[in-house]
Amino acid sequence: MIPTPLLHPIKNKYIAFLLRKAIHSTCPEQYFTQFMRKQDNPCGQATYVLTFDFDFEKDIDAFPVLLDMLKMHDIKAGFAVIGKFVEKYPDIHKRAVDEGHEIINHTYTHPDNPHWAPDRYFNKLSYAEQKEEVERAHEAIHKILGVECVGFRTPHYGNLHTESVYPILAELGYRYSSSTAACGYKGFGAPSLHSHGIIEIPTGCSLHFPLAIFDSWNMLRKKNPFLGDDQLFIEEFEATIKVIKEQNLFLTHYFDPYDIVENSKLEKILNTLSNLQISTKLYKDLLS
Ligand SMILES: [Zn+2]
Repeated sequence: MIPTPLLHPIKNKYIAFLLRKAIHSTCPEQYFTQFMRKQDNPCGQATYVLTFDFDFEKDIDAFPVLLDMLKMHDIKAGFAVIGKFVEKYPDIHKRAVDEGHEIINHTYTHPDNPHWAPDRYFNKLSYAEQKEEVERAHEAIHKILGVECVGFRTPHYGNLHTESVYPILAELGYRYSSSTAACGYKGFGAPSLHSHGIIEIPTGCSLHFPLAIFDSWNMLRKKNPFLGDDQLFIEEFEATIKVIKEQNLFLTHYFDPYDIVENSKLEKILNTLSNLQISTKLYKDLLS
């Protein structure tokens, strides 16, 4: 039996780094399986939630292709969108709503977005400024798309995530946040009650990298990425979903639209979900 500690109580970053490295190079599959089995799967059957974060203009460029592909596979997804883009590109966002996808509040400017807020960091903003970021996005989404958002995602997740957002979300009537990493959160990859009545839905990892977020930045784009190859990325996704299916687990990931549509990655991900006949849901479906 391998001990499966959460990374977040390990304050020393170097120890956390060494632990991650040791597990990833020796026993990732066992760790992943033992860790995920501790979760309380709210759906009682293998379930996957697919989400996308729209942070840059190039993500908006990928939006139509993304919607076409999801429609072709009859899969609904969650879209974390920023207020500024909803105002600038209302039609494509409206199309997403009309086609049954879920809109997630991803702040108004997405601090430190290079287009509008390069020098602002969400966790460094005052309570009032954070609230304004959430509130202005909520208003834009409501006014332009006619959607009452109930879910939020902090820009850049863990690095810029802050506990102060939970009372803000509660004040605004939100139900959930999806702003933590599965490997560092008590839910073991499944939703669990955080504070102020807000449910946290942590973003998932993968079979061979249980102590990382499985996204294209970590796997493909950062300096010394975990995988660095599109084909390996797809194989890792397939291997992970197979275990989720076999063990009746819950898992959710987020992807960057501009990156995932390249080199048929999205098509292969959607094919995997269809072929393995795994149930796909939206975050809002989990709340009841
Ligand atoms: Zn983002």
